Amino acid sequence: MLNKKNYLKYYKRIYLKGKSTRIKKKFIFLFIFVIFTSVSVLLAFFINTEEMYTMDLNETDSVVNQAVSVKKKKLRTDFTNWNRSCDWNLILVNNVNEVPDYFLPNLKQYGDVEVDERIFSSLSEMIQESAKNGVKLWVSSGYRSKERQKQLFDRDFSENLKQNMNKEDAYNLSLKNISLPGKNEHNTGLAIDFNAAGEEFCSTKEYEWLIENSANYGYILRYPKDKEQVTGRVFEPAHFRYVGEEAAKIIKIQKLCLEEYISSLMK
Ligand SMILES: [Zn+2]
Repeated sequence: MLNKKNYLKYYKRIYLKGKSTRIKKKFIFLFIFVIFTSVSVLLAFFINTEEMYTMDLNETDSVVNQAVSVKKKKLRTDFTNWNRSCDWNLILVNNVNEVPDYFLPNLKQYGDVEVDERIFSSLSEMIQESAKNGVKLWVSSGYRSKERQKQLFDRDFSENLKQNMNKEDAYNLSLKNISLPGKNEHNTGLAIDFNAAGEEFCSTKEYEWLIENSANYGYILRYPKDKEQVTGRVFEPAHFRYVGEEAAKIIKIQKLCLEEYISSLMK
C-alpha cells in the first residue's frame, strides 16, 4: 500500500533522482560546451595558419621566390642620397642600389684583373702579409664592366632555365647569385674575389686569415652568412670589399654588414 509516509519517501526518491539526473545533464552539457569551444578555437587557429601559409605559397612559386620576396622587403633602403655625398670607399651597391653614373673607378692592373687604383696598395700589402703567414691568396676577380656583368648574368640565367625552372624563378636565382649589371659591387672596382673559390672557401685557412686580419687593411667580408636577408645575396666567403680601415674595424667588431653600418651612419 502506498500510504502517506511511503508516498513521501517515494516522492523524495523520484524527485532527488530526477534532480541528480538534471545536475548530471548540466555537467555533461557544460563539459560538451567546453570541449566544443576548445576544439573550435584550436581549429580556427590551425585553419588560419594554413591559410597564411597557402597565401605565401600562392604569392610566390617556390622557396627561392619566397626568399627573394623576403629579401626585397628588407632591401628597401634607398642609398641614393647617401651615395651622392659619401666618401668613395663607402659607396653602397646592391640589388636595389645601382652604381651611380658619376662613380668612375680609376682602374689599375693587378695581376690578371683590374681594381680601383685607390685600393691597390692596401690589397698588395694584405696579400704580401698573408703570404708571410703561409696563407695563399690571389685575386681571381676585381673590376667588372657592366657589359661583362650582363654576360655573366645572362649565362647564369640561361643555365637556370636549362634546369627546368620557370623564367621568374630562374631570374630571381640569378639575381641572388650574380646581380644585374650596375648592381654588382664588382662594377665599382672596390670588390675582390679570392682564389676563384665558392662556398668551400669558408673552411680554408685563407678564409680564417682574412676574417681575422682583413679589417686591418680596410676590407670586410661583404656577404656574411647570417646577413643574407639584409644584403640580398647568398653567403660569399671569397668576396671582400674595401671600405677603409675605420669602417672595416667597426663592421667587424659590431658584426654588421655594410647596409647596416651605413644605415647607422644615416640616422
Ligand atoms: Zn664577388
